[in-house]
Amino acid sequence: MDAAVYVRISQDRTGMQAGVHRQQEDCLSLADRLGFADPQVFIDNDVSAFDGGRRPGYDTLVAHIRAGVSRIIVWHVDRLYRQPRELEDLIDLVEQHPVRIEAVRGGGFDLNTTEGRLMARQLVAIAAYESGHKSDRVKRANQRLAEQGRWHGPARYGYGRGGVLIPEQAAVIRQMADRFLTGESIRSITAWLNRSHIPPLRAGTGTSGLWHPFTVRSVLASARISGQRAYAPGTRADPAGGREILGPGDWEPVITPEETEQIRAILADPAHRRIAPARPSLLGGIARCSKCGAGLTITGHTSASGVTPTLRYTCQKDPSRPERGGLSISATPLDEHVAQRVLNRLAHPRTSASEQSTTATLRRIMDINSRIGQLSQDYQARIITGGERRAGLFAAEESLRDAEQQLVAAGGAIALYAAPIGSPDTLASWWDSLDTIDRRAVITTLVKKLTIVPGHPGRSFDRTRVRITYRP
Ligand SMILES: [Zn+2]
Repeated sequence: MDAAVYVRISQDRTGMQAGVHRQQEDCLSLADRLGFADPQVFIDNDVSAFDGGRRPGYDTLVAHIRAGVSRIIVWHVDRLYRQPRELEDLIDLVEQHPVRIEAVRGGGFDLNTTEGRLMARQLVAIAAYESGHKSDRVKRANQRLAEQGRWHGPARYGYGRGGVLIPEQAAVIRQMADRFLTGESIRSITAWLNRSHIPPLRAGTGTSGLWHPFTVRSVLASARISGQRAYAPGTRADPAGGREILGPGDWEPVITPEETEQIRAILADPAHRRIAPARPSLLGGIARCSKCGAGLTITGHTSASGVTPTLRYTCQKDPSRPERGGLSISATPLDEHVAQRVLNRLAHPRTSASEQSTTATLRRIMDINSRIGQLSQDYQARIITGGERRAGLFAAEESLRDAEQQLVAAGGAIALYAAPIGSPDTLASWWDSLDTIDRRAVITTLVKKLTIVPGHPGRSFDRTRVRITYRP
């Protein structure tokens, strides 16, 4: 006689995988007591039977029943089916292939007998009733939270529990959006993320540790990254096109709502990209309004006297958000000012208490760069031999690769590979050689927050309006 163990856990939120292991151990020891050595185990994880989700483990189990498995061991019968419809399917199956079900909790019964079927039908009716109630409750609670603009659900890429922004992931999202809006495909962005060793959410918890195009698409299309709440009952995850947007949420945005709108328009119809190729400004969406927190967008202004339009970063008015609008700053001097400060940061990295921090990594790269320079000097001065120089270079370049990888993984700025950190002269020409997307990525890798405070209209550029918080 062949036996199989079936294990299912309905919601794998915070480490509930442990639940699966417990169920599995209990089932295996029951199998052992019943005299079945080494039964096959079928597992479904993170699938709620109630909303009709697919159950690949269950489907395989059914195939094995058809092929002769005659005992199923479960933790509780409600693991096997929760809807009356599913039980009826199982009873149909059992009529052709005799099966006995053993449960760790609640005992076993024989679906081949009238009593066994009656018992199973009663149990499943109760389970369906309870499950339906729970599902209604959860949906109502989520809708209420969505209406209030509060974060609900688990951590998502860019945000921790409760919607707390994670700066290094926000920098990656910023660059994903930049790349997408300037014409890169989802596939190419996915390849870039994996090539840069940027870890996806939940890397190292049994996942492949790689990004998939679907994940990239769903991050980009999500309303949450522009600080907006969305709600879609009946969908299991973010559908690729993004869920319906209800209004502003109470968490920090990474990109602007306008950008989310553009992203969704391109996803819905790739022809959009050809009509309106986005050319990003250096600080659009990165610089924030100090009054309302919104990302500033670049706009052209024609002054009263002149005919040449000047560019300004502006907090856009939004009728649905009365707090928005009324702040702007001249674009070109702001770009130059921020670029100068970032380059200065790269030229003179500070020391840092935390060894893993961005600052400490910059410092390490600078030290390695100067070690490499020193090796050549020592060789020319005949202090070391050619062999010693080669060995020294090899070791230095290896630690350089490690440090650069760490820096890039923190913010996705590929341009920081081989950046002349610690060398003020070369940094300026390095910066000139970068395109705007790379420059933006360098900025978001180093800068945690760039805020513009209100100023006096008509004044020339006032650098005291610019507040920069660097990453530690
Ligand atoms: Zn504002």
